[in-house]
Amino acid sequence: MHIPFDNSYARLPDRFYARLDPTPVAAPMLIRVNTDLAEMLGIDSAALASPEGVAMLAGNAVAPGSQPLAQAYSGHQFGHFSPQLGDGRANLLGEVVGRDGIRRDIQLKGSGPTPFSRRGDGRAALGPVLREYLISEAMFALGIPTTRTLAAVTTGEAVVRETMLPGGVLTRVAASHIRVGTFQYFAAREDAEAVRLLADYAIQRHYPEAASAANPYRAFLDGVVARQADLVAQWLCVGFIHGVMNTDNCSISGETIDYGPCAFMDEYDPGAVFSSIDQQGRYAYGNQPRIALWNLARLAECLIPLLGENEDEAKDALSAFAPRFQAAYFAGLRRKIGLQTEREGDDNLTRDLLKLMAADRADFTLTFRRLGEAAEGDATGVRALFKDGAAFDAWADRWRVRLADEEAPAATIRAVNPMFIPRNHLVEAALAAAVERGDFGPFEELLQVLVRPFADDPALARYAMPPREEERVLQTFCGT
Ligand code: AMP
Ligand code: MG
Repeated sequence: MHIPFDNSYARLPDRFYARLDPTPVAAPMLIRVNTDLAEMLGIDSAALASPEGVAMLAGNAVAPGSQPLAQAYSGHQFGHFSPQLGDGRANLLGEVVGRDGIRRDIQLKGSGPTPFSRRGDGRAALGPVLREYLISEAMFALGIPTTRTLAAVTTGEAVVRETMLPGGVLTRVAASHIRVGTFQYFAAREDAEAVRLLADYAIQRHYPEAASAANPYRAFLDGVVARQADLVAQWLCVGFIHGVMNTDNCSISGETIDYGPCAFMDEYDPGAVFSSIDQQGRYAYGNQPRIALWNLARLAECLIPLLGENEDEAKDALSAFAPRFQAAYFAGLRRKIGLQTEREGDDNLTRDLLKLMAADRADFTLTFRRLGEAAEGDATGVRALFKDGAAFDAWADRWRVRLADEEAPAATIRAVNPMFIPRNHLVEAALAAAVERGDFGPFEELLQVLVRPFADDPALARYAMPPREEERVLQTFCGT
């Protein structure tokens, strides 16, 4: 099993991690290998699927060049600071530089207890493994920065949750696993040297242009602020709710990371919350920009010593978040209604559509997608999603006047508005088939649909439809 490992995090000081091998499992079986991703990473996918490869993916064997370690980090969870979290059930196997020249982490998730496990068993249940596979690959196909999934295996062991569940191990690929919480870990220990080393490492790996700026640490903070603002704008534009935006789940590289009780909205509701553990709605759909900024403020606090103890530098950097987010969000919304140019009044036009959608609980994904047909003259499909048809017609009249100035708006609409998102009821059904019946067919079929979200295939219509009343999923669970 040859993987071209080239590990840089393992060269950072010992206090950044605990070195340890994954804990072997009883009877690993491959669920699937992500062939395209393996190819991009320069890894032979057939070798990954071989018994030797599966042993590595399950944590039963350590491949040559791998230096497994569990990373240290802390984090604010629902606003409360935990000075020590860390990889409680993950092993970073190492890094590879892909065919695109980008260095990425390869990490096993669910690979056994570590010094950071606290009271956890270090394992992952099969359901959440499959959920992360589906949703991370769907996000990638939607063009949203995200960690990805290289492979998933079953362990042949049960994990104890509310009930006994089959176990799984996910192989996650990330630009890195450095989190806001990684900075907090060292800042909380007043380890200024480590904060600086980590910042230098993150700059080199994710923000190389900051290294030559007048103030590299300020440029670094500016870069993280910009990427998080853009990321959350992209989430909102597809109806994604992360569910657990704790600072330990906020990636410095700007990727979506740590798929737990996340969900895509069916009907548009800015207050939508799915996560069973988010009782107060802290991480509701419409709160996500505010929370991202709150998380960035925690990062800025860690960096103040590197900013010459100058709080104004930190504040200035954070003040760029709101305008950057607004610009990205409204640019995204404009494209969603077919506008490639920007005119006065456009923001109101998009805002007014969202208001109608919220009032009538219109399906978020279908509304935008069906604007494509409406732009070509047939508005019956989109109109049917609204209870107040007359209000929609009035909006559509304004929209058509504005569309007259645009080149090929229907094509714009279809290029940015997916037909297929990982709808909760489909995800839950695919997971249930695998977990309860050992049937991975629905998971495979759903994955094949989600990796082509903009396709227009009438044969796949059932994957595009919102849930029937009895299929609705009201809550999602972390399942850790
Ligand atoms: P998460 O909510 O998945 O982002 O995890 C928060 C923290 O809990 C991280 O430090 C995880 O490593 C840890 N954790 C979650 N599940 C487990 C588990 N089953 N065993 C050990 N640690 C866990
Ligand atoms: Mg996490």
